[in-house]
Amino acid sequence: MDASRLASAALSTTTARAEGLLDLSVVVPIYNEVDSLPLLIEKIAEAVQGAGLSYEMIVVDDGSSDGTVELMQRFAEERDDLKAVILRRNYGQTAAMAAGFNYAVGDAIVTLDGDLQNDPADIPMLLAKLNEGYDLVSGWRKKRQDAALTRLLPSKIANILIGKVTGVKIRDYGCSLKAYRSELVADMNLYGELHRFLPALAFMEGARITEMPVRHHARQFGESKYGLGRTIRVIMDLLTIYFMKRFLTKPMHGFGVAGLLSIVAGFVLGLYLTFLKLGGSAIGDRPLLTLVAILILGGVQLLCFGLLGELMMRTYHESQNRPIYRVRSVVGRPKVAQKA
Ligand code: UDP
Ligand code: MG
Repeated sequence: MDASRLASAALSTTTARAEGLLDLSVVVPIYNEVDSLPLLIEKIAEAVQGAGLSYEMIVVDDGSSDGTVELMQRFAEERDDLKAVILRRNYGQTAAMAAGFNYAVGDAIVTLDGDLQNDPADIPMLLAKLNEGYDLVSGWRKKRQDAALTRLLPSKIANILIGKVTGVKIRDYGCSLKAYRSELVADMNLYGELHRFLPALAFMEGARITEMPVRHHARQFGESKYGLGRTIRVIMDLLTIYFMKRFLTKPMHGFGVAGLLSIVAGFVLGLYLTFLKLGGSAIGDRPLLTLVAILILGGVQLLCFGLLGELMMRTYHESQNRPIYRVRSVVGRPKVAQKA
């Protein structure tokens, strides 16, 4: 797409979003799922048409090489309820979802996997829950159909850890079937494997979150794109989230306090060594001396990181006009006194 068409596409997406043109956008990241694609599209359309919603489906191709792209393009040309967003290469599920969010114009957004492990028939139920006044409804695969040792166990541990660290109590972060208010999604930036942390990120944005049991099927077509390696990446992302949750708007409170403690400890131990030295003992071969040096140097570095963090945090918020708070609503319109 050339630059001007890209610009006009972006513009029309923004206006459509502002006007709330559709009730629902269904976003599906897809990587090499040629076999399930036809049934997927049919099932989603059937489910949301049954609920009488105005909707669009946005399928995002994440660099597939198995014919998914061609099929997707054909469907998108034939149907008027389908938008195909085709990425240039494989960026990963999170990026594919972010791309889908960017093109979505619905008031609500539902995401699900492209392999039909999630059941499109659950979409109306999630939406009904969303309309009870939630900003995010997360699916909970109560009877999950995946391998016990390599999938269910790591996922169980991850869910407990994520719950502890983020303070969001839902049981199944990994479930892709989720419904969101579109304003919420517009406020969030996604990186890494962060899509599973969307509830946590949303919670940080002050969202009302709930979960409900959804169906889950064993993979009928193709194979899973992930192995055990994902666990490590999820744990790294969890560290990031933890840090963002605690210190995003106040890095100096984290780094600064640790730095100061380290310097004080170094100073006290250093003082002790000084007294020994003045008392005539040799301190050159004391491991404690090394510790003093490390504590003080480390402390100074931590303080500097804190200061840098403060600068970067300001750049982050101010360059994007991101306030450090989120307003849910403003009520009332007091009359402004007219000037005589
Ligand atoms: N996916 C993607 N890009 C990737 C890997 C996966 O868009 O790099 C899609 C994939 O096509 C599927 C969803 O993300 O629609 C979830 O992937 P998968 O079913 O392999 O994960 P699992 O259900 O095994 O956790
Ligand atoms: Mg799957």
